[in-house]
Amino acid sequence: MSSVSFDDSFITRVYTDPAPTLASYDSLWKEEVFTLVSDWHRYSGTPLDHAAIKAHLTALTDQGEEERNTHPVVRLRDRIMARAPTFQVEVFPRIAPLLPPETPIEATATLVALIVPGAFCAAGRIVVNLSHPQFLEAGEDLILNIVAHELYHFGFHSHQDTGSGTPPDATPRQLADHVLWWLQNEGMATYASYNLTDIYPAHDAAPDYTMLENPADIRRLTGNVNEVLAAVSTQPRDALRETLWTKGVRERAFYVVGAHMARTIDRERGRETLIALIHEGPRSYAEAYNTLAPRDMKVNL
Ligand SMILES: [Zn+2]
Repeated sequence: MSSVSFDDSFITRVYTDPAPTLASYDSLWKEEVFTLVSDWHRYSGTPLDHAAIKAHLTALTDQGEEERNTHPVVRLRDRIMARAPTFQVEVFPRIAPLLPPETPIEATATLVALIVPGAFCAAGRIVVNLSHPQFLEAGEDLILNIVAHELYHFGFHSHQDTGSGTPPDATPRQLADHVLWWLQNEGMATYASYNLTDIYPAHDAAPDYTMLENPADIRRLTGNVNEVLAAVSTQPRDALRETLWTKGVRERAFYVVGAHMARTIDRERGRETLIALIHEGPRSYAEAYNTLAPRDMKVNL
């Protein structure tokens, strides 16, 4: 049985009760949600800006209750919480068909604000930063689409979690398998959340979906994937990490090409094959796709 709950306690602490929150500021960071946030900042090497957060809390304390309750972050929180019950019912029937039967997914979508990243996952939580400009502008459809994408990852990782790094002495083949893991992991999750864009439209804010509908983009980004795969045997590890991040993640090649591979296998070979490939692994996923792709669209193995 799968479930997702929504935790908006961070938003309440900051926007509804800023004065007591400011008064107990230091002990706040020992609580679970706040610890997750500070851990992210510590691990990513981007220090949390406590002075800025305190200044926000002070400014909110000076506002009236009505002004705080109509703050754009609070309004966005309210719209998400209003849709949460429906989301909890409709999301799993949409993503479960792309996972092996009886894959349980349990997660909490945790709504926060005033931090650097837009969203991240840790300790069974999907943490979403409602004060991120992209989310404030795009609104709750994009956020629910992203939560669905991350929920899919939770299910996928319960069957396959080989992506968490590679040993320092990894062979080129192991490094290539790692690249292929990115393709299958992000590709399947993107294909799953793409299939939810009819209820949570996100094309305007998430370029992945628009590129997935444009053969020229898919062809161009297949070039990116093949650049990363070539780099596993030509580049030192530091340079390879940078190539993977730039070509694969930032330019969205793993997401768009990976989802195109999922769609192609789903259409040509069927859903059962696509799901069986989650067990068989990333290299089998790429091989299955290559048998269906034209010569100039293949992933170079
Ligand atoms: Zn993802």
